[in-house]
Amino acid sequence: MFGKILIANRGEIALRIQRACREMGIKTVAVHSTADVNAKYVRLADESVCIGPAQSPLSYLNIPAIISAAEVTDAEAIHPGYGFLSENADFAERVERSGFTFIGPRAESIRLMGDKVSAKKAMREAGVPCVPGSDGALPDDPQEILEIARKIGYPVIIKAAGGGGGRGMRVVRTEAALLTSVNMTKEEARVAFGNPTVYMEKFLENPRHIEIQVLSDSFQNAVYLGERDCSMQRRNQKVIEEAPAFGIPRKLIERLGKRCVEACKRIGYRGAGTFEFLYENGEFYFIEMNTRVQVEHPVTEMVTGVDIVREQIRIAAGERLSVRQSDIVMRGHAIECRINAEDPFTFVPSPGRVQQWHLPGGPGIRIDTHVYAGYDVPPYYDSMIGKIIAHGDTREQAIMRMRVALSELAVEGIKTNAKLHRELLADEGFFQGGTSIHYLEEKLRHRPKDAK
Ligand code: ADP
Repeated sequence: MFGKILIANRGEIALRIQRACREMGIKTVAVHSTADVNAKYVRLADESVCIGPAQSPLSYLNIPAIISAAEVTDAEAIHPGYGFLSENADFAERVERSGFTFIGPRAESIRLMGDKVSAKKAMREAGVPCVPGSDGALPDDPQEILEIARKIGYPVIIKAAGGGGGRGMRVVRTEAALLTSVNMTKEEARVAFGNPTVYMEKFLENPRHIEIQVLSDSFQNAVYLGERDCSMQRRNQKVIEEAPAFGIPRKLIERLGKRCVEACKRIGYRGAGTFEFLYENGEFYFIEMNTRVQVEHPVTEMVTGVDIVREQIRIAAGERLSVRQSDIVMRGHAIECRINAEDPFTFVPSPGRVQQWHLPGGPGIRIDTHVYAGYDVPPYYDSMIGKIIAHGDTREQAIMRMRVALSELAVEGIKTNAKLHRELLADEGFFQGGTSIHYLEEKLRHRPKDAK
């Protein structure tokens, strides 16, 4: 096992990874920007290194600075967390070439899955169900493009191969709009991702977002840890996640999970990963794979009892998975609310000093956050400042516990989206379960303005 790990991230996930390390008796190195010098996890780490100024391109995305920090502290491995460099194949490669272990998949797998065209091709070949669409990149010939769309049937969605974060996509509902839309998406993709390749898919009107968590070691052992439902989204950003997914027959999930496990073995995947699907009319359609730990991993940890970060570290150290598929049992139900420092109505970020910070607790409640009273939320990074996770024997119990938890949460000094969560946890549609990815936006459109 490693003696020392450098954590190349910040915020709640830096603390989460640090906790796993400390529990395993591994020393930690925190790297931080000048804006995060006083962060709790920086103080708690065995060592810390300032890697640059507040702006992430100069610090958290600064590959040479991170590798130098690993060198001067004699760290053996680097955990990238999520976001920042976590899905950067060049980073993974440079970490390994510099003699450190990257806690994640091989650079080759990150690259394969980072390009959505190659990812889809690999998944199709592995027998994972995909959204009907073009066989890879769209050709240049307009007639061929029109023909492909006719075969798929309108509406279609044009997506950039290098896209991410909900960008580089355009829905097309009529043939008249097709060619212009393709050209516009290509141009945007060239500017935004440096890759003008686009592909076409059938646009699903009312799907749910369902994802499968996998773990895979270097000995051809792979397991799936059930599914998560992340349909509650705003602008393609997840707001609430839960496990298991309400109302989907277990047989369907099991069949899908097995396919994902087989796909992992086939591509020689190593580490934790998530296969994301859209689910509509009883069918799953692969959209992308995330080759890292995800924000919402705690809901899976709560229902399976498997510590995903610990497994990531073990796998990277060349150990075998500590669980077999038959050991994995989903117990009860878990829900996660992402707490963001933002206005609950306008969603404008609300950085600044946290004056009061009272956290909930009690049976089944888990809080992952790096925030404390007196902490300054910096304006430079993602506005997510913590997560509340509620576990119960049933979905109803998890909801009740989350309602109580949200009622106990008291934050002063900055605005948070807690009010939105309270509304959602009291929402009839959410309570019923199984809402689509458009539900939240639709609800927000009809939200009374005087609710303020
Ligand atoms: P990104 O990497 O930018 O997150 P994804 O491929 O994961 O891109 O898609 C993001 C979101 O866009 C999905 O969660 C879904 O809401 C929507 N989306 C993507 N593909 C389709 C599709 N074929 N039909 C309907 N919605 C889609």
